Amino acid sequence: MIVCKFGGSSVANAEQIKKVLNIINTSNDRRIAIVSAPGKRHADDIKVTDLLIQLYDKVLLSENFDKEINDVLTRFSSIEQELKLNDSLIDKFKIILESYIKKYNNQPLRLLDALKSSGEDFNAQIIAAYNSQKGIKTTYLSPNQLNMLVSDEPGNAIIQSESYDLINKVISNIEGKIIIPGFFGVNKEGDHVTFSRGGSDITGAILARSVNAELYENFTDVSGIFAANPNIIEQPSIIHNLTYAEMRELSYAGFKVFHDEALMPLFKEGIPVNIKNTNDPVHPGTMVKRSRPSTGVVGVSCDKGFVSINMTKYLMNREIGFTRRLLSILEQFNISYEHMPSGIDDISIIIRENQVSNKLEALISAIQRELEVDEISVEDNIAILMIVGLGMKTQIGTANKATEAFKQSNINLKMINQGSSEISMMFGIDGDAEKDAVKAIYNAFF
Ligand code: ASP
Repeated sequence: MIVCKFGGSSVANAEQIKKVLNIINTSNDRRIAIVSAPGKRHADDIKVTDLLIQLYDKVLLSENFDKEINDVLTRFSSIEQELKLNDSLIDKFKIILESYIKKYNNQPLRLLDALKSSGEDFNAQIIAAYNSQKGIKTTYLSPNQLNMLVSDEPGNAIIQSESYDLINKVISNIEGKIIIPGFFGVNKEGDHVTFSRGGSDITGAILARSVNAELYENFTDVSGIFAANPNIIEQPSIIHNLTYAEMRELSYAGFKVFHDEALMPLFKEGIPVNIKNTNDPVHPGTMVKRSRPSTGVVGVSCDKGFVSINMTKYLMNREIGFTRRLLSILEQFNISYEHMPSGIDDISIIIRENQVSNKLEALISAIQRELEVDEISVEDNIAILMIVGLGMKTQIGTANKATEAFKQSNINLKMINQGSSEISMMFGIDGDAEKDAVKAIYNAFF
């Protein structure tokens, strides 16, 4: 069995939805489809999830929200009309939205999750109803019906391991096509709890793992994963084959085509992921598997928004427990760090800016007080550039080629790091040099 997931632009209007259903209905293996909320139909459009967040903002401020609720319902009603759906679901959707607003009156996080989840939930119901109207046996299944239990962390849910078997049991009793809303699961009480943004990919992966699918197809609006950001490089090449580990490295530093948490359910069973294009479904796209024949560098990614805290202390290398105490300070502040390059008497911690924004001053004081460092400084606006590829392990000269390219483009390197797995090389550079750096590396390797 193949599990397919369709992103927001693939289900943004009737025309796209018809393409989606054509992809599913013309293949017996494609039985389960996970759908996102309607995304943007054009560059200036607003995703339904964002319309729902606007509705939430109004409710929270106790302001009149008629316009916001109407904006959401109008999007769905235009999809229904374009599809010529016989029985409208809009009145039902209105009642559901109003019931959430009433029920979670004093629970803002629950309300936000219930409203956010409605984009996928309503879209799945419309798509299933339309496919049934076409005479194809189709069932809409909600995460509640599926017993898709997740941790009770609004906006950041994690699947509970017992869910896989429970979901499989439900699916095995159903014939025909199954349409499932992405992006959320339920807690023990049945409240909707969403994954992080872009989380429909995670739902797809959970389903693929639950039914032990032979393939997880992730349909989007590009024909696979590009070797570099297409907003920086004109028509970059498409990566045909990747491993899970390479994919993780690339998505860590800026590749947004596939949610990095979505790989987790797939690792264990080794279920392959095929990133494909709804608008060009015959294109082979990018296949992500456990292993692949090793070739050189496959991709370059870059992400901004890192801060480096640099510390110096004379004889740091002789001071037993220094790093442990540093890490426990980070723990007290509930901060996770990304990298920790070090010398004999100096150490830096690289953290994502959003982790430290309002804690930085207090963190610096705590480090000064508890570790008695000689010097401490903060450098912000750092970009992390990753060069990724299995082949690096056996190829000599990758670092040389990269540093030469940086030199030619006059880019100053702040940091270099290569993990022991040797599938990626990381470079810290000034955030303003991001575009030049990606161009320099892409031109050198591709
Ligand atoms: N609709 C959600 C979002 O915009 C989830 C998704 O599309 O995957 O983040």
